[in-house]
Amino acid sequence: MSEISSKQSAQLSQNTSNLEDAPLEPTPDIQALWTYVHNEMRQEFGEAVFRSWLKPLTLRAYYHGTMEVSVPTRFMRDWIQTHYAQRISAMCSDKNSEIKRVQIVVVQNAIMDDAFVPQNADGSPSVRGQEDLRAAIAEISSPLDPRFTFDNYVVGKPNALAHAAARRVVESASLPFNPLFLYGGVGLGKTHLMHAIAHTIHETAPEKIVMYLSAEKFMYQFVKALRANDTMSFKEQFRSVDVLIIDDIQFIAGKESTQEEFFHTFNALVDQNKQIIISADRAPSDLNGIEERLRSRLAWGLVADIHPSTYELRLGILHSKRAQLGADVPDSVLEFLALKVTSNIRELEGALNRIVAHADVSRQEITLESTQDVLQDLLRAHDRRITIDEIQRKVAEHYNLRLSDMHSARRARNVARPRQVAMYLSKLLTARSLPEIGRKFGGRDHTTVMHAIRKVEELMGDDAQIAQDVEVVRRALTG
Ligand code: ADP
Ligand code: MG
Repeated sequence: MSEISSKQSAQLSQNTSNLEDAPLEPTPDIQALWTYVHNEMRQEFGEAVFRSWLKPLTLRAYYHGTMEVSVPTRFMRDWIQTHYAQRISAMCSDKNSEIKRVQIVVVQNAIMDDAFVPQNADGSPSVRGQEDLRAAIAEISSPLDPRFTFDNYVVGKPNALAHAAARRVVESASLPFNPLFLYGGVGLGKTHLMHAIAHTIHETAPEKIVMYLSAEKFMYQFVKALRANDTMSFKEQFRSVDVLIIDDIQFIAGKESTQEEFFHTFNALVDQNKQIIISADRAPSDLNGIEERLRSRLAWGLVADIHPSTYELRLGILHSKRAQLGADVPDSVLEFLALKVTSNIRELEGALNRIVAHADVSRQEITLESTQDVLQDLLRAHDRRITIDEIQRKVAEHYNLRLSDMHSARRARNVARPRQVAMYLSKLLTARSLPEIGRKFGGRDHTTVMHAIRKVEELMGDDAQIAQDVEVVRRALTG
């Protein structure tokens, strides 16, 4: 913020207030009172607001019970007028009952002449100013994907909390929580939810200014403003939005000045009750390279994580995608994909698109065989000739069981669960059919195998320990 104070001290008095009603030099008493109140503002409104808006306030004159204070831009004046002026007046009157009013005037200097928002002759922000501001913000915002709507978002256990939180943000009249922090692995639907929020606000409250961009673009804009020596406009733009949505915040790890700027933007918006929505690939506390004070702020509101997808959710998404595409894809193919392509939703969608495109071009029906054919490379990466014996050995090792426990009829949970994990991994990592897998596990029925797969999928969604166990063994086998 130092650029504000330096500009302000270099100001060339070009007074826009009424010169006929000649202002008087403030007496030392009034000056002392102002200094006191100015300091109090820091306490009252917090450091961030003070530094962003109130610090440049300077006492210019005192007359007829009116304290006249100046700011360098009209934008700042309007902002302070709306948000803080009443309280500032009250603080002054409390100290000295003769003071009836605090008037904020703009004292521009040459540098500030191209202040961001144009005004009418009377100094009020012009419609054109509003439009320019909106245009500038629209330019900074990244485009929204029209397909990323709430309607197209399939809800399941792994994303239920994040989805409910996103809906709350757009449905609540007041701020339900601030910020909303969404996190989860790549391709799990964070960006989709954020776009859905932005779309909905555009529809239901078109007067609201919504800014959506990646943290990378935030940094780019900030650095550009620094280079152009125009951080004022940058601050003004970011601080005048109603909803700020920043995607992939982990990007600013290690970028100290961007973090600093973001921190102040964040605080200023929270102070003004503006909604902030942030996404990251991990929890706030795990954001290494991001300052502790920012990490803790990020966790102030609601933190919602998106878990890795389950079989059910993947199948649900595929059904929804099939309907959108209007393609003729048999259920068995969707089930096959839901079982095989587990890495993330983006890859799952990609697989479906590929088989649909292939069928289109080749004018062939989509079957399980054609699917396996088209997706050979993708599936091979998943298969890599791992045997069921190997899987059983690794799982037994991991859980400290005997290999024979994989085939036995014992049903105790400490044996049955690992056995289910092994069945799940067998389906995931080999090309064996369900009956074949069943035979390898002590001659079990294929429905038992199916049940085991679903059970493990489900558990992975709500039990971090199981998810981790599966991941560890899977890596040991494929890595
Ligand atoms: P992230 O931002 O978490 O990396 P995206 O939001 O870009 O992931 O999602 C990747 C793709 O998966 C997008 O095409 C998105 O529409 C789709 N997707 C993710 N989750 C869902 C869901 N629950 N329902 C429908 N589509 C989804
Ligand atoms: Mg994303």
